[in-house]
Amino acid sequence: MTLVRGDTGWILFDVLLSAETAEAALKLANEQLGELPVKAVVYSHSHIDHFGGVLGVTSIDAVNSGEVDIYAPVGFMEEAISENVYAGNSMSRRAGFQYGRLIPSSPFGQVDSAIGKGLSVGAAGLIPPTVVVTEPFEEHTIDGIRVNFQNTPGTEAPAEMNAWFPDQKVFWAAENITATIHNVYTLRGALVRDALAWSKQINAALYEFGLDAEVMVSSHNWPRWGNERIQEVMRTQRDAYANLNNQVLNLANQGVTINEIHNEYKVPPSLQKQWSARQYHGSEFHNSRAVINRYLGYWDGNPATLVPLSPADSAPLYVEMMGGSAKIIAKSNELFSEGSYRHAMELLNKLVYAEPTNTEAKDLLADVFEQLGYQYESASVRHVFLSSSEELRNGVKPFESPRGGSPTVARAMTTGQWWDAVATRVDSQAADEINFVLNFITPDTGQTFVVEMSGGTLSNIEGYSAPNPDATITMNRSDVETIIMGQATLGSQLQNGVGTVTGNAALLMQLNSVLVSFDPSFEVIPGTLNP
Ligand SMILES: [Zn+2]
Repeated sequence: MTLVRGDTGWILFDVLLSAETAEAALKLANEQLGELPVKAVVYSHSHIDHFGGVLGVTSIDAVNSGEVDIYAPVGFMEEAISENVYAGNSMSRRAGFQYGRLIPSSPFGQVDSAIGKGLSVGAAGLIPPTVVVTEPFEEHTIDGIRVNFQNTPGTEAPAEMNAWFPDQKVFWAAENITATIHNVYTLRGALVRDALAWSKQINAALYEFGLDAEVMVSSHNWPRWGNERIQEVMRTQRDAYANLNNQVLNLANQGVTINEIHNEYKVPPSLQKQWSARQYHGSEFHNSRAVINRYLGYWDGNPATLVPLSPADSAPLYVEMMGGSAKIIAKSNELFSEGSYRHAMELLNKLVYAEPTNTEAKDLLADVFEQLGYQYESASVRHVFLSSSEELRNGVKPFESPRGGSPTVARAMTTGQWWDAVATRVDSQAADEINFVLNFITPDTGQTFVVEMSGGTLSNIEGYSAPNPDATITMNRSDVETIIMGQATLGSQLQNGVGTVTGNAALLMQLNSVLVSFDPSFEVIPGTLNP
């Protein structure tokens, strides 16, 4: 969290992941620097670690009364929800691997998360912005402080903005410039980012503000002092993202594929010698594959990889042809002893897929993953290897629900987005014989939706009403929010007299009967769910 002292109070840039930590940070500042009221909050971008703590520093009432303004970049609300909701359960599971939540804090486990020591575990919330910055560059005066915002869409987040304080010559680089190379592809799973656009926005910031800046501050990492150092860091980061984009495409255009690029792409030595271009967070391995994925997709052009067997189906054939598990384990031990860990991984991964109950194979693969985890500079890559090692040895531990389910975050979802999320829960094989047309009306917001089940698929459209629906549900949006927050179901709300249903109410039972509940502890590595 970055605090800016205005004429009469604090302007808070990014308010952490959870209310508890944000509140503690503000308390510390008030104790050490003098107590001031919060006058404004700025969300630099749509990631939850930059807005989730807002309820620790202000309240919905203070924002509604105009006492506190909240600034955010254009597209903030849409991106804050969509990135975390539709694939939320899978992302949350994978985030556990990426951030090392499954492994102990220890020299042999989680020691750092590259852009922070680790994730806080408190309550995340969201208050929608009151001022949305829409222009590429937009000047505001906040509590007497002149701030020039720079929208940087499509960079570290789909909606993100930098800020320049012309009177103090301070440049706030959001999360666009940190002390490490960031993720172009983040291993928890997210849309692949645009390394070239990212580089170009850093370049724009360099020429708009960087040539004059005396201090550069940003999310997660420390300030940079002095114009010479600021320009050096900005150019390093600009060049590192552009190099990733350009050099990967250079190789791709010579035939290097997504399955080879991480072994071919090398960061130029001059950049490797710059601390801010080191791969503490994003690695060149997963980032280089992401660039190809962005431009060419996941397929390498070889039909053998176009519709391949699933790993569990191909592995037994390999194991049989290699002469069985004893031979594989003997060879893998040999490879392990000589430090050929990725070669050992190649063999053992097949064996564990073929024989998920083979403890000897799983333990040896765990040893291999562990050694690989220790070798990678990227905290994310280290965590993924060490977490997988942990699950191979000790099995999957019960896992918390996705953070997108937090009440005030969920409340920000539009009703259409909520129906879209419900649609991802439909078991379409079970739903294939079910057909209905439903009008869904939220009187307090004046919205109407047609929700159709056909072809085993749930769809919705806003702004229309079907002339002859099978049923019509009328429910205030404020009561839908109770459902979105998981505190009720559509059926239980109606049963309790919240909202009304006319027509064939039984279709709600039908809908409910084909909805899958996602388990946040699904198996990732074979043989780890019930070892
Ligand atoms: Zn962040």
